[in-house]
Amino acid sequence: MTKTPTDRLHPATIAAQAAGAVDQASGGVVPPVQFATTYMRDADYQLVNGNNVYLRSHNENVRVAERVLSQLEGAGDTALFPSGMAAIAALFRTVPNGASVLVQSQIYWGTTKWIRDFCTRREISLHEVEASDSAALAAACEAHRPVLVWVETPSNPWLRIVDVSAAAEAAHAVGAVLAVDSTAASPVLSQPLALGADIVMHSATKGINGHSDVLAGSLAVRDIDSRIWQMIRDDRDSAGAVLGPMEAWLLTRGMRTLPLRMREMSNNAMALAEYLLDHPRVETVLYPGLPSHPGHAVAARQMSGGYGSLLSFVVRGGGAEALRVAGRLQLFHRATSLGGVESLVEHRHTIEPHTGIPEGLLRVSVGIEDAGDLRDDLAQALGQ
Ligand SMILES: *Cc1c(COP(=O)(O)O)cnc(C)c1O
Repeated sequence: MTKTPTDRLHPATIAAQAAGAVDQASGGVVPPVQFATTYMRDADYQLVNGNNVYLRSHNENVRVAERVLSQLEGAGDTALFPSGMAAIAALFRTVPNGASVLVQSQIYWGTTKWIRDFCTRREISLHEVEASDSAALAAACEAHRPVLVWVETPSNPWLRIVDVSAAAEAAHAVGAVLAVDSTAASPVLSQPLALGADIVMHSATKGINGHSDVLAGSLAVRDIDSRIWQMIRDDRDSAGAVLGPMEAWLLTRGMRTLPLRMREMSNNAMALAEYLLDHPRVETVLYPGLPSHPGHAVAARQMSGGYGSLLSFVVRGGGAEALRVAGRLQLFHRATSLGGVESLVEHRHTIEPHTGIPEGLLRVSVGIEDAGDLRDDLAQALGQ
């Protein structure tokens, strides 16, 4: 570790230098991968390194990646998990049977689907609310007295924006914990903990890793002494939902360029959103960077440096036409997920036909390719 007080450094520096991680033993400027599942004791039965006993609880590659994330997020602590869903599950397992939770409606479908199932099995009363409406969220908190409020901003694939400060106020007024899925923003564009959130979750599979080759998730917290954080940490140790050393190493490597990538993706997404807005074959463009977006003012206040890679638009002519447009794209890969350096397109209605996604909606994850090339590809696919 460097002696520089890293909490005063800017995100680009923290990320590029992986929060000071080097290999002191060899002098290498990048950390080595430690694959050991178990760690030695000496002849007096003392641990050779007091920090390390067994891989389920201890690995330096995981710690390094967590340290980078904590510094970027302004968090007291971060815990990595083997997927975003594993992180969400670890959080929801802290909810007592029979309690009440409030969850934003029309968010990432995998989250909604798992939470519904989990709450049914655990007899937790689940209330889904349109949380981009701050008044509706506050009223739902009052009415249902949840122990946990879960929001996602910007939301996937609707790009709805939740006012995190208002949500924190509403949750705290009834003694609830506010957790924010900040995947689409990444820790570079938004820091929900500073806005009052108690816990921030990321699917690190997306922008944080950024190269579509690591599955990972994270939870970060402001108050490391809180009971919920102790429960989450203990649960990870004992239940064993841990990230492998190689994935953690790759994640750290990916994060070195995170601020750079988020900036480029956001610029590209903004350029494409503006292009699509004027396109005669496009009905609606959903992107929080557009001044016409209903959440723009809140997004402008609580995000900085861009509005992210995620962008949805509705093609005129319904599902068949949207699928034709997707089929004609040459540069955008037709694949799910988001936040990678390569651009992707997805027809969400095909994946979740019963959740109200417009049939003509295409969700794109804008990568770091040349914006002009991406625009030309959309132009030929839309047929001018
Ligand atoms: C992908 C995603 C998740 C789930 O993360 P995995 O890493 O795929 O398990 C959760 N929330 C959002 C917003 C996502 O995009």
